[in-house]
Amino acid sequence: MDLNQLGWNPHFETHFSPLRDDGMVPARVTREDRASYRLMAEDGVLTGAVSGRFRHQTTSLGEFPAVGDWVAARPHDGEPKATIHAVLPRMSAFRRNVAGARTEDQVLAANVDTVFLMTGLDGNFRLRRIERYLTLAYGSGAAPVVILSKADLCPEVEDRIAEVESIALDVPVHAISATEGSGLGELDQYLDPGRTVALLGSSGVGKSTLINALLGADLLGVQAVREADSRGRHTTTHRELVGLPGGALVIDTPGMRELSLWGEDATPDAAFADVETLARECRFADCAHRHEPGCAVQQAITDGTLEFERYDSYLRLQREAHRAEQRQRQKERMAERSVSKPERNREKRRTRRDRRQQARAVGGDG
Ligand code: GDP
Ligand code: ZN
Repeated sequence: MDLNQLGWNPHFETHFSPLRDDGMVPARVTREDRASYRLMAEDGVLTGAVSGRFRHQTTSLGEFPAVGDWVAARPHDGEPKATIHAVLPRMSAFRRNVAGARTEDQVLAANVDTVFLMTGLDGNFRLRRIERYLTLAYGSGAAPVVILSKADLCPEVEDRIAEVESIALDVPVHAISATEGSGLGELDQYLDPGRTVALLGSSGVGKSTLINALLGADLLGVQAVREADSRGRHTTTHRELVGLPGGALVIDTPGMRELSLWGEDATPDAAFADVETLARECRFADCAHRHEPGCAVQQAITDGTLEFERYDSYLRLQREAHRAEQRQRQKERMAERSVSKPERNREKRRTRRDRRQQARAVGGDG
């Protein structure tokens, strides 16, 4: 399998090249099953597990391989197995908090180029939910696209699209019906070979139906990346990455179906660029946009140029982001205390090296 068709690019090449001499191969994680990973490498499918050293040196759940990750793995002789030695720096990641002995971030999907934020045009249509999805998407690093599903059940599709466009600033909006097959052609632009998409949306919006429609009848093209079940239908029981007949890759993991996934990077600023622009006009730089004199945000609500519901949604998401950030800080403090000094120094050196490499990768990509 050609690595480019799996999403390989200069960013990963830059980070992988120092490891190549060590007998490692790059591979993409297509499925995660507890501690076992299915990997796609140039020479085919491998079953991988992380090395003892990796496990020992890894301090948080989020550093473990996730579906969509590119890893450096050393294949075993004579059997389709490999040991994973490193996870290459991610270009994007969807995380969620898992509460255990301490709150940790778990990565649900990595290296997603485009995220389809799906919401149904049936009775369950909510603009506020789309704002939440947009906030999550911007925090992940993937480019958001809003998909309004079940267009066949809605008599006012154009009005709905206009409403969504008014809150999803500069984000493409598409209405589709996966059961009737309408609007699917508009999605082709995100599905070039080697591009990775993920679907985010609550249960019942039609994510599986859309994936099945995109898979079409051509399951042969899929088998290289995943095995079809007996009925040849796509089912979501594991976290996995699926190849589409046209060459794009879809990440479909159960966790992506939940509404409340908060990564450390998710803040509503990008999803609410209109409110942020207004906020820059406030008299006080630290205006909380509640009762302060000279507040441009409150003024816009009075004028009717900013909807109160959108403002309210913004404040709520900001509070959530703030709480998530506090949890993250607390986690870092706890980690600091439990990590020894030599290890901390190693980590610092690693971070500096990563930054240098990232700077080079950015420069190299133009
Ligand atoms: P998921 O939970 O997001 O994966 O949703 P599913 O794909 O399982 O779909 C939930 C239900 O919605 C199923 O009964 C589908 O047949 C139905 N559904 C999905 N897409 C459409 C659509 O475009 N139009 C209509 N009318 N129903 C749809
Ligand atoms: Zn203000």
